[in-house]
Amino acid sequence: MKDLYYLDYNATTPVDDRVLDDMLPYLKENFQNPSSSYASAMTIMQEVETARKSIASATGASSHDEIIFTGSATESINHAIRGTLKAYPKKNHIITSAVEHPAVLETCQDIKRDGYKLSVIDVNSKGELDIEELKAAVTPETAIISIMHANNETGVVFDIGKIAKSAKDINSNVVFHTDATQAFGKLPIKMNDGNFKYIDLLSMSGHKIYAPKGIGILYSRKGSRLRKFITGGHQEFNKRAGTTNVPFIIALAKAFELIGEDLQSGKSKKIAGLRDYLEAELKKRIPYMRINGEGAERLSNTSNMSFDCIEGESILFELDRNNICVSSGSACTSGSLEPSHVLRAMNVPLTSAHSSIRVSLGRFTKKDDVDHFISTLPGIVEALRNISPFWDRKNNKPDEKALKYVMP
Ligand code: PLP
Repeated sequence: MKDLYYLDYNATTPVDDRVLDDMLPYLKENFQNPSSSYASAMTIMQEVETARKSIASATGASSHDEIIFTGSATESINHAIRGTLKAYPKKNHIITSAVEHPAVLETCQDIKRDGYKLSVIDVNSKGELDIEELKAAVTPETAIISIMHANNETGVVFDIGKIAKSAKDINSNVVFHTDATQAFGKLPIKMNDGNFKYIDLLSMSGHKIYAPKGIGILYSRKGSRLRKFITGGHQEFNKRAGTTNVPFIIALAKAFELIGEDLQSGKSKKIAGLRDYLEAELKKRIPYMRINGEGAERLSNTSNMSFDCIEGESILFELDRNNICVSSGSACTSGSLEPSHVLRAMNVPLTSAHSSIRVSLGRFTKKDDVDHFISTLPGIVEALRNISPFWDRKNNKPDEKALKYVMP
């Protein structure tokens, strides 16, 4: 990544060289289908099961068959939600939150079109979940609750074990799923620890933890009733069909080993230090800047920032010209000009929501990358504000007419 200042680790991570080294033999000489019955294939199957066991141990699973390999977090989420509803045909209610990734929200909306009832729980202005609203929504008809562990846009972390426990205190039969795609590798997650025990199903993705794109996990606690989502062969204990993706499973096991080392070595504290430095330096240099989710517990690598009166997409364009990769907080990528549903749910004023960008740091981020960003961004914001009809150039503040663009 020469001369590329990559600050978009929540979008995807590069494959770690150590992960690549481990998986390459399974793309070359160890290519056999592990379900075949000759000795070389059976050896590979044993290696897949060793990988599964090491992931089970890293995640605190009570047994290796609680780990189901899938093609992505999106697939795991669909499996969890749709598979649970099929297993409980008499229940017709789902609960989720307003700030979920589209993998959850769009799945729930699709199911709603089939006649299910859907409750969407709000967050406050810091992005924290309203647990009382969640508790009030749980009924005997609720089949599944799906709430994320950490938000991909703002990095706001939900105390997911506590949330699961609160829901189960109301209805102990409800199935609780969490989308932990952004939390893995950044927060300690042990399914046999404390309130994590109240979580039945969990989804995650390899490409957020330095493994390749195209592999995910669905953790399914023993005893969870779940209908198969991808039907066909009997792979994955007859829970997910499709030829076993050996190289990516081997890669994922190595990726788990490395994130375990990162968490133990204090690497995430180093990343948190860089993120805090980045935010503090920008605040000194840019007026009318807001950190979305500030004050809430946040992932230590993520910063979602808004700069009043300009467009996030324009900021991205200018940053790209300076070889800096970050994400826009608006939903323009989905083809709409609506600001992000996450920022809307947090009641971020429209002028700020439209101008948000997400910076996310990771294992290979250097202080130089952050310094380049800090020295480049203020000039871009100033230049864009100078041509913005909502910016009062004379007084260097938002124009009066910008003030009416608050959230409805
Ligand atoms: N959930 C969250 C919170 C995410 O951030 C993402 C990806 O950005 C996904 C789900 C989807 O993951 P995948 O790309 O593995 O389908």
